[in-house]
Amino acid sequence: MSRTIFAANWKMHKTAADTAAFLDAFLPKVAALPQHVEIIIAPPFLSVPSAWPALRNTRVRLGAQTMHWELEGAFTGEISAPMLREFGVSHVILGHSERRAHANETDETVRLKVRTALEQGITPIVAVGETQDQRKAGITQEHVVGQTRAALHQLSTGDLGRVILAYEPIWAIGTGQNCAPEEAQRVMAAIRGCLEGLNETPILYGGSMNAQNVAGYVAQPDINGGLVGGASLDPEGFANLIASATT
Ligand code: PEP
Repeated sequence: MSRTIFAANWKMHKTAADTAAFLDAFLPKVAALPQHVEIIIAPPFLSVPSAWPALRNTRVRLGAQTMHWELEGAFTGEISAPMLREFGVSHVILGHSERRAHANETDETVRLKVRTALEQGITPIVAVGETQDQRKAGITQEHVVGQTRAALHQLSTGDLGRVILAYEPIWAIGTGQNCAPEEAQRVMAAIRGCLEGLNETPILYGGSMNAQNVAGYVAQPDINGGLVGGASLDPEGFANLIASATT
């Protein structure tokens, strides 16, 4: 059975108390899902310490939404991989389009972060995606393949096998305008085909995924789950989304 992964990107939502309440409601709902289903919750940094004890001895893994590529130093406001690991973080989202747009995450810094995450034993979830203008100009595949190659530049085959990719068309994020599963599949097949070693790499779709449309995505051969924003904020809704895709 191939891996099926659902990662929640909470962005700047949920205090530590909100996170604890979410997990109280969510964990019992996903406990009995099939074992091949992997679930990751990426809360804001300050909610990570409250999520960590709640997730211990559960099937749900803890993620972060970014990190710095250096292990320590004069980087005001930044968080390092060892700091994340100390609080049980096993996954980190890198290159999200909101970080690329608002926090200067570039192909080069994403590449540095991917390397550091792997060296530090944290699984990177590398996000790539095109704008509506790039899509209209017919350069979607060229753009996302370029972002993927840049992020994974010179990684060994072994390291490629430890990465998770996420295709997130920017025009579909938070808009309710999801990308048709067949269109996403075409792009994701191009991503998978762009590097030797990506055959087994999970590739997630992200962009207005919900419980109604998720089955159409996971039915595609190159879509191994979802990176979910808005629809991951409600415990019952997110558990239903995952169940709709996997049972
Ligand atoms: C995201 O930001 O990663 C995302 C997929 O958001 P949404 O599900 O809200 O479109």
